Amino acid sequence: MEKISIVISCYNEEKSLPLFYYEMEKVRKQDFDENTEFEYILVDDGSTDDTLAVIKTLRQKDNKIKYISFSRNFGKEAAMLAGLETSTGDYVTLMDADLQDPPSLLKTMLSAIKEEGFDSVGTRRVTRKGEPAIRSFFARRFYKIINRISHVEMVDGARDYRLMTRQVVDAILSLKEYNRYSKGLFSFVGFKTKWIEYENVERVAGETKWSFWKLCKYALEGIIAFSTMPLVLSSFLGLFFCIIAFLAIIFIIAKTLIFGDPTSGWPSLVCIIVLVSGIQLFSMGIIGQYLSKTYLEVKQRPVYIVKEKNE
Ligand code: UDP
Ligand code: MG
Repeated sequence: MEKISIVISCYNEEKSLPLFYYEMEKVRKQDFDENTEFEYILVDDGSTDDTLAVIKTLRQKDNKIKYISFSRNFGKEAAMLAGLETSTGDYVTLMDADLQDPPSLLKTMLSAIKEEGFDSVGTRRVTRKGEPAIRSFFARRFYKIINRISHVEMVDGARDYRLMTRQVVDAILSLKEYNRYSKGLFSFVGFKTKWIEYENVERVAGETKWSFWKLCKYALEGIIAFSTMPLVLSSFLGLFFCIIAFLAIIFIIAKTLIFGDPTSGWPSLVCIIVLVSGIQLFSMGIIGQYLSKTYLEVKQRPVYIVKEKNE
């Protein structure tokens, strides 16, 4: 007997959840026999629609379902963490409720772990079809930059959809940080990961919860969580401007001694003051970002708060 836990984070997914469940059950009956036990962990991330009611209806029909409902919206990272903590399976997979993560891949993923000796199988989409061009452009830039400045490797187009062994899940859960950036955490823990590629699928119902602005903030979080390069950069900027200033002082003293003319040049002075104070504020902003993350870490607030669950 082996057990697979399927963790599904749901935020306002009343429309797609029944479709997901139907599809997932179909795949389960088709691709797996009685030797594989299943467990669905539905995490309601403080939905404001009828998601929780839908979950409860599903639960009445099917006791493979466990659910957790948050007291408010804590974000997908928190939902995934709660799901992983609740999971009891030998293999655990993270899935979206909108069928953008095809359940039909599960069988291939499981055999990669069992037969090819991988510890985890991730999925990545090779096309960004159906996504605004500008979003794809910035996403690509983000992966280029973060891979250059961070020690852990982030795979372009990687989704959260992955199947892991219990060992990998336990490793993820041993990371106790408050600011969780899963894409980074998964590569931080290491292990042998196989990547399966597939074409982007559009969500079945409802709409995406990610605005462009939210994605920008998420990208910034990834950089702050997995690289200290911005701090190094601001130190180098400081050093660079000190050298410039030093050379300029020598130049101005020499010029005044040779040619006189002490009063001219105030417009350039204003420009320099504005530039340098801009750089200073920029660097302080960078330090502030790290400080604010540290502040959140030391407060040790819980990542999520559960309002109700079924066991
Ligand atoms: N989600 C969540 N909490 C949130 C936002 C999203 O649990 O605050 C869930 C959502 O219900 C879905 C998954 O995360 O199952 C992915 O969200 P979405 O489809 O909006 O993102 P996209 O696929 O467009 O990147
Ligand atoms: Mg989606």
